[in-house]
Amino acid sequence: MNSKIWLSSPHMGGNELHYIHQAFDENWVAPLGPNVNGLEDDLAKALNKEVFVAALSAGTAALHLALIQSGVQPGDEVICQTMTFSASANPIAYCGAIPVFIDSEKETWNLCPIALEEAIQDRMAKGKKPKAIVAVHLYGMPYKVAEINAVAEKYGIPVIEDAAEGLGSTYKGENCGTFGAFGILSFNGNKIITTSGGGALVCKTKSAKDQAVFLSTQARDEAPHYQHSQIGYNYRMSNIAAGIGRGQMEVLEDRVQQRRANNFFYRQLFQDIAGVSVFVEPSDDFFSNHWLSCITIDSSLCSKTTEQLRLHLLEDQIESRPLWKPMHLQPVFAASPYYGGTVAEDLFKTGLCLPSGSNLQEEELHRIAAAIRSFFNS
Ligand SMILES: *Cc1c(COP(=O)(O)O)cnc(C)c1O
Repeated sequence: MNSKIWLSSPHMGGNELHYIHQAFDENWVAPLGPNVNGLEDDLAKALNKEVFVAALSAGTAALHLALIQSGVQPGDEVICQTMTFSASANPIAYCGAIPVFIDSEKETWNLCPIALEEAIQDRMAKGKKPKAIVAVHLYGMPYKVAEINAVAEKYGIPVIEDAAEGLGSTYKGENCGTFGAFGILSFNGNKIITTSGGGALVCKTKSAKDQAVFLSTQARDEAPHYQHSQIGYNYRMSNIAAGIGRGQMEVLEDRVQQRRANNFFYRQLFQDIAGVSVFVEPSDDFFSNHWLSCITIDSSLCSKTTEQLRLHLLEDQIESRPLWKPMHLQPVFAASPYYGGTVAEDLFKTGLCLPSGSNLQEEELHRIAAAIRSFFNS
């Protein structure tokens, strides 16, 4: 039987163990140390802007702290892109706040600026101005930064930029992760680079970063004994995980190039298959890391469905996955307000993520191509 081809699996660069050995040699086996500081510096350098990065235990933790530091309180409302992974929305609930979900536009599949403004106006008319906006660079595709920022600024609402899938992507030449009041990154096992599990909060000021580090290490006041004036969290990144991250940062550019090459491979593969569109950038302003390559199938043109394709690929041990199911359609968020049409819902019904790892071998790409051709020729 053929070996399994995964959607996106960890891809080590080579120097990760070197940094881990260093941590052991110096006994920095703790949620602080030279690798944590080194990874933060590497990230700030890669983002190429005046930012202050706090390495944390997960992207979800980074989102939670971003909401807390934006002043989100129980009963507040927070706007969130509906077309996303649940981790974009769950921290809103951790705060006791209410997510207000917004549809996508068709070009980047991300937050629709028109539906966003309608929602803000309607929530304000109902008596509550949203406290923050969670916008996502889904699958690595930058959202419409200029349009979203214009709406956010008009109403004075901070944007929390979920760049968990967007490290290495750019918009008008600037790096994703640097556009919001806060940016969040993820280094989970399936992301473009991994620390096995981890994340980071990208801050605009040193004091915001210091506050994130303070909150993520149990909010300890300055005192010889343990003294606390605020609720704290255990969200700091381990120095061992950060060692993996430092090795991964050495190969980030290469990983982006490889994922973009996968996207190009799919574009060529599907160019003569009627009814299938590969998800690509709408203009040169957008540069996607193509973390995952995605397609949509128009069944009226080819009488095939994404679910049939998914099952066909699975027979050959090739993993694929439907596009993320929108949050406003999730049972857990059924009571939350929603604004927009059916763009996200239609994407969910017609879209599929294809194997996109930076470690896909030539022979695996051949297997994928053969399985896809045989499906559309049958
Ligand atoms: C992975 C992911 C997160 C959460 O990151 P973790 O490090 O897994 O906690 C948040 N948002 C999006 C869009 C993600 O894909």
